[in-house]
Amino acid sequence: MRYFSLNNSNNVVDFREATLQGQAPDGGLYYPENIPVWNADFISNLKRKSNPEIGFEIMAPYVGNTIPEKELFRIIEETLDFDFPLKPISENIYSLELFHGPTLAFKDVGARFLSRCMGFFAGKLEKKIVVLVATSGDTGGAVANAFHNIPGTEVIILYPSGKVSPVQEKQLTALGGNIHALEIKGDFDDCQKLVKLAFLDEALKENILLTSSNSINVARWLPQQIYYALALTQWKESLDPVIAVPSGNFGNICAGLVAKQSGLPIEHFIAACNANDVFTAYTRSGNYHPRSAVPTLSNAMDVGNPSNFSRILTLFQQDHQRLCEAMSSISVSDADTLSTMNAVYNEFQYMLDPHAAVAYSALKDYLKDNAEQKGIILGTAHPVKFPDVVQKAVGHTPELPESLADIMKKDKYARLTHPEYDSFKAAVMDIFKNI
Ligand SMILES: *Cc1c(COP(=O)(O)O)cnc(C)c1O
Repeated sequence: MRYFSLNNSNNVVDFREATLQGQAPDGGLYYPENIPVWNADFISNLKRKSNPEIGFEIMAPYVGNTIPEKELFRIIEETLDFDFPLKPISENIYSLELFHGPTLAFKDVGARFLSRCMGFFAGKLEKKIVVLVATSGDTGGAVANAFHNIPGTEVIILYPSGKVSPVQEKQLTALGGNIHALEIKGDFDDCQKLVKLAFLDEALKENILLTSSNSINVARWLPQQIYYALALTQWKESLDPVIAVPSGNFGNICAGLVAKQSGLPIEHFIAACNANDVFTAYTRSGNYHPRSAVPTLSNAMDVGNPSNFSRILTLFQQDHQRLCEAMSSISVSDADTLSTMNAVYNEFQYMLDPHAAVAYSALKDYLKDNAEQKGIILGTAHPVKFPDVVQKAVGHTPELPESLADIMKKDKYARLTHPEYDSFKAAVMDIFKNI
């Protein structure tokens, strides 16, 4: 498989290059030259296959010959080394719980796949790989955990000071070793801006291979297709599911749309958004107007200019009508997020995190007009990662799972940094001195 840049289709690379670069040198996102069509046998036999077998079949065409098959299978086994249960919530809504990985976030899958691919490629490089990542919360923790102790790699994480939860902050700042945290005195958009500037800074890249690990990286983006296949292995209803995806940068839902194009039987997609509704507005009007993010209770989705928008447009060949047939988008307020968490807890004893609650509310809304359908929400984070919101919604906080006890005991270490580029660069240079 080859990948072209969405800014210039003449810029073409293989999976290895796309993974190492993250973003094309022209600033575009990489996009596969063709979307594989899975054979009908694979789809009808999904329920009989193991999770790694499914993951391998999905990813093999995208990786091509850049990683030997045996090595790729091992990488997939490590990537999917936890459960992905589909749990019924109400009569017509299920939750695919994607939060049983090491940082209790769905981003563990993409981050683990990416880190292991990079580790494999790093073995053949002379330079160190430095991963630069901006996070509004969950990305950073998943990336830190995934790369911790992967030889040949260093990770620098930028996060907005005071805007991530206590559990998230520990996951970003307490691992040490090859993981370095920068606490930026600004918001997530400031963090993203700094990362973008760093990639344009030739001096910074002199002795290292600088790369990204946000959902724009194909090695993080594409393995998310596996979730949708794992949902179907557990789906026992007669009609194909409607799937509601809590969306921020739209990497996850875009992967689902790609999987559907490859043949996965999914009835419809719902991009569930919070007040950051530029995509919802686009589906309504056909006009796309990015703007600054506003803070909400589902803060991992506080994105004002979703980076995967151009991939979604490409998938539907810029055809607004085709896009709207395959997917809807619904925006959910903070008030509705809270009342959904409360109602679902009281009625069904199921605790939603604020992101899944946005999806639940959107799906419920959709099913009102499509009463014969049934659907799945993607549970993208464990509720314990958002204790304040859960407390507000249901009156008590969820219990801390055993698996988090260790990291909560460790000390935070982060460099507090101003959002101006010079301060940021000085901090990065200081890190480089010590690696
Ligand atoms: C990152 C994240 C999202 C948004 O995913 P995208 O792929 O960026 O759309 C949703 N929920 C949670 C909990 C997240 O961490």
